[in-house]
Amino acid sequence: MAAIATKDDTSGGALGHGLDGYGIADVKALPYYKPTPADISISNRTPSDKKKIFFKNVNIFDSTGADIYPGDVLVEDEHIQKVGKFEFSPDADTLVIDGHGKKTLLSGLIDSHTHLSWNNSPTLDGLTSLPIEEHVLHTAQSARTYLDCGYTMCFGAASAQPRLDLVIKQAIKSGMIPGPRTLANCQEITTTGGAIIPSISKFADGEDAMRRAVREFISLGVDNIKLSMTGDYVHETMGSEETYYTLKETRAAVDEAHNRGKRVCAHARSAASVRLCALTGVDVIYHASFTDAETMDMLEELKDRIFVSPAINFPLESCNGAATPFGLTPEMAAKKGLVKEVEVACEVMKEMHRRGIRVLPGGDYGFAWAPHGTYAKDLVHFVNLFGYTPKESLLAATALGGEMMGYPELLGKVQPGYYADVILVDGNPLEEMELFQDTSRLHAIVINGHVHKNVTAA
Ligand SMILES: [Zn+2]
Repeated sequence: MAAIATKDDTSGGALGHGLDGYGIADVKALPYYKPTPADISISNRTPSDKKKIFFKNVNIFDSTGADIYPGDVLVEDEHIQKVGKFEFSPDADTLVIDGHGKKTLLSGLIDSHTHLSWNNSPTLDGLTSLPIEEHVLHTAQSARTYLDCGYTMCFGAASAQPRLDLVIKQAIKSGMIPGPRTLANCQEITTTGGAIIPSISKFADGEDAMRRAVREFISLGVDNIKLSMTGDYVHETMGSEETYYTLKETRAAVDEAHNRGKRVCAHARSAASVRLCALTGVDVIYHASFTDAETMDMLEELKDRIFVSPAINFPLESCNGAATPFGLTPEMAAKKGLVKEVEVACEVMKEMHRRGIRVLPGGDYGFAWAPHGTYAKDLVHFVNLFGYTPKESLLAATALGGEMMGYPELLGKVQPGYYADVILVDGNPLEEMELFQDTSRLHAIVINGHVHKNVTAA
């Protein structure tokens, strides 16, 4: 199906140029935008937190690329101090957590496409069915669920109401409620007629309206801007291969966000939309299912500045019978084009993996058949569907998470100087990637040096 609204030249041509001769080389030269240190910091430590945590006799997956090795890890206040073999005598202000040589310590995980405010609705428009007061509580519950599941990093991918992500992020930062380090988003920005879910969308048409929408959201205090550029085969009539943005609109939105140092993520399933993202400097490309060969070359050129997040679990569960109780059978999913999209997307992700493009797990949890709490299925999908080794899947969920959050020197690894965002799991995740799906296997969860969970003493 041809794109219906690529009014400008999005072909890219041999040089990867769009309008005005602006092309991939210009995008490559853009600065690397990232949140401020304050945006990713939290103040959640309580008087019951000891000054030090000594993880003794653990197996360490440090996310540097090294194999798992035995050792100890010392946390002091908010940071990891020592990793490996060293002498240490615990004092009265030290919590000792013993791995007995069997448990694995690793960085907390990332969800690269988080919807804290999705309320496990069985319908698309049901995402806004709750009164705002109940919706705030539900959003807080999702944040806690992420942390309960070992997720310490969430990259916001749109909020059902303008300020839901923002207020929950602030509550997490102040220590009022438990949750991951969060980059907050607002509503999805889309064009007239381009909303997959009108009730969660902000409409903008043309360059001026795009700039205005982005400015409004930045004035609220968001970290990320979300563009919804294409349809989605889960929708009755708006297919994944339809593109609703023009090049000029995309560039206006991206330029405006970048002017303020903010990053843009985009729901972009069609080949034309992924190309628009490449030509305009969209920072995070969601789905990218139908990326064609020429656009794949562009993404490879940009691999040091872009991230791709396929969010494959939702369409996959839509096809495999999980959605049947909610009225979407596998037969219907095939007819809609979802089965084809999953097949094509898996091949595209295998190719991105081969080319070293940064693909991250997570995404679109919070629907009835892909509910909150099941996030770690993505780690298995990367292995089973995209050809990742278990180690590569875990690196994508940790080290690449630190890169996507903008602080690879502080987040996503178990190394001295990093934030003490670590989880202790029962077993070896490289041999049993499914263990993350069972929270009873998560024996300790620490974020910012604060003990969120510790059942090792029991
Ligand atoms: Zn989404």
